[in-house]
Amino acid sequence: MSIPDFIQSVCRDIQRGLAKSAIDYANLGLNKFHTTWSPSAANDQIIIGTLAISVEFMIKALLTEYDICLLYLDIPIELKLAFHIPEKMPEKAPWKLYEYQLKSSNYKTIGLPECITYFGILFPDQKQKLGSHLRFLERTRNLALHSTLPAFRQYELHRTIYLTLCVYDTLFKREPSLFHSYKLTDNEKNKLFLSSFDDLRVDRVHKAIEAARLKANSISGEKATISVDDWTVMVVECPICGNDALLFGDTQDDWECDEHTEILSLTFLADSLECEFCGLKLEDAKELELGGIDPVQDRSELADKWMEEQSQEESY
Ligand SMILES: [Zn+2]
Repeated sequence: MSIPDFIQSVCRDIQRGLAKSAIDYANLGLNKFHTTWSPSAANDQIIIGTLAISVEFMIKALLTEYDICLLYLDIPIELKLAFHIPEKMPEKAPWKLYEYQLKSSNYKTIGLPECITYFGILFPDQKQKLGSHLRFLERTRNLALHSTLPAFRQYELHRTIYLTLCVYDTLFKREPSLFHSYKLTDNEKNKLFLSSFDDLRVDRVHKAIEAARLKANSISGEKATISVDDWTVMVVECPICGNDALLFGDTQDDWECDEHTEILSLTFLADSLECEFCGLKLEDAKELELGGIDPVQDRSELADKWMEEQSQEESY
């Protein structure tokens, strides 16, 4: 076998292995949820941990499909060259050893946080919809796999399942052959789950607002204010208690150019809200809308600060 063919077959094996594991873990977690989960079964941790691995592997399968080097934090220079210019490589190199090392995880691969960053860049239109759920999974993954999860609301389990199905759907739409012949089972149950997750959103928001209203009635004194300096957080007035609340999401720049000028506008795409005073929590962009908060906020008043920070970053 020629060196290019050999390299191609190693990459294909690794990508296929990741795709298979991603789907196997997803089916395992989803099936456990559909068949054995109940509030008393207390198996949330297993399901959340299994699905966290699945999401990570799905994104890794995509990255490996595009460029296997994206999968690794660091690999020897010989392998970087071999992956990018296999036809230029000498025949006399320990190729079999490299294959063994790549397949036996000798080289450290990226983790879930890096996978989430890649996902956000490759699918910017999904960031607002899935951002808060991805951050939740990032915070929870290691606890689920290496420790004990604190008492969970049923919602935390549901948002993990929702995220897994949405990530699968997003990747599959972009690259229909990404998972080869490996497929999610329980399709009807997954579909039913997705529609009930949406239906229950109205109920969740209603309950969150009622609970916040009750707590707000006991708050007295001057309006509490908060100050933050971050492009992923902004302060808004809480729709329930009127104090400052934190809106989470991301700031996006948009340039409008004509012949003479360039105008920068900044938009904040919000994906969740937390008020520490009345306890209101709205957990995704649709919940924000239901709670009366516009998930798309204009932040153009900070354009000068944005430009200043960008020019500082570029000068490094
Ligand atoms: Zn509040």
